[in-house]
Amino acid sequence: MTLRGTNQESGRPYNRRIVLEAIRLNGPVTRADIAKRVSLTVQTVSTIVRELEEQGYILSVREEPRGRGIPPSVLTINPQGGYVAGIHLTPLGIDAALVDLNGNIVESAYRTAPNVAPDLAFQLIGELVSELRAGGSKRILGAGMALPGPFGIDSMSFIGATTMAGWKDVPLKERLAEAADLPAFIDTDMACAALGEQLYGIGSQFSNYYYLYFGVGLGGAMVHDGAVMRGGWGNAGEIGHIPAVPDGEPCPCGNSGCLERYLSLDAFNRRGVSQQMWAEEIRPIFHNAVRTIENLLDPQTIVLGGLAPPDLIEKLVASAGLPNSVAARKDRKHPRLVMASDCQNSVLRGAAALAVSSLLSPRFGQMFSTPDEKGIAA
Ligand SMILES: [Zn+2]
Repeated sequence: MTLRGTNQESGRPYNRRIVLEAIRLNGPVTRADIAKRVSLTVQTVSTIVRELEEQGYILSVREEPRGRGIPPSVLTINPQGGYVAGIHLTPLGIDAALVDLNGNIVESAYRTAPNVAPDLAFQLIGELVSELRAGGSKRILGAGMALPGPFGIDSMSFIGATTMAGWKDVPLKERLAEAADLPAFIDTDMACAALGEQLYGIGSQFSNYYYLYFGVGLGGAMVHDGAVMRGGWGNAGEIGHIPAVPDGEPCPCGNSGCLERYLSLDAFNRRGVSQQMWAEEIRPIFHNAVRTIENLLDPQTIVLGGLAPPDLIEKLVASAGLPNSVAARKDRKHPRLVMASDCQNSVLRGAAALAVSSLLSPRFGQMFSTPDEKGIAA
């Protein structure tokens, strides 16, 4: 992705985001190097860097002298410069974590709450965020929440292991902002997982990749030029309901033979065989899914992650004999399948990444938003 600053006065908040992003992606990095990367003058960059340093978002370090002369100081993100609350709502309960600017989980808390209704959920979220805040000295910039999709589809908001009943028409963002008393951001669990990998994991090596989310169900997200493709209504990730087996097993969505009836944690648990045996058994269906994704979207790679046991994900990633597709290029630099950097906490860290990106990164949020005392645009 190319970052490019603007010389217009109205672009100041945007330039701050650009400079911060350049430091995040390339740090430790010198002012001169940033200026070159984002096409701004060294003077403009230095002014912004001074502001960011004063606000505590970045750290300036002088490298050890090598040879003659004083080496220039280099800049890195200050992980303690700000924190966000990540929240992951699942049909089983609510996970919450305080995450620093480098994506490290520094506090976490959980409430068991099976199929929780919205009122109770937001009450619990309020409690969880207060717990994470206890101690009090940390600057908390916002809250990001991930929950299972799809959003707003009556016929697919079915009763089943992977969905939330009773959440239709809830003003999620407003309710979260109120409960957490923070700027709030919402997305589906799989979009969050992909975003987390993009910001903190192996996804940062790619500009175009498909994230296959192996959870209780099966979801996915295409990351294109560093942003998650959402589709017209934000539901672009429901790969679990593409047809896999003609006249196959009935699915709660009303169709039959859907991919996630065969390829998901739910399917694995229902089958009740060893990981080794299941990975072997499911291979043809998995490989067809890989082929479909590759031919449709031409990703640089497919990142496989999710809540499934890492051993199982590893077995699928390692499965040999992938079929031919547009991805079978001789000049590939990366394998067609790679494992996510963080499987277990990917959604939670991704939910936090959602807030970090929206508040601080030039790629998301309102780039020229009105100043917000809690955000970098101030
Ligand atoms: Zn289905």
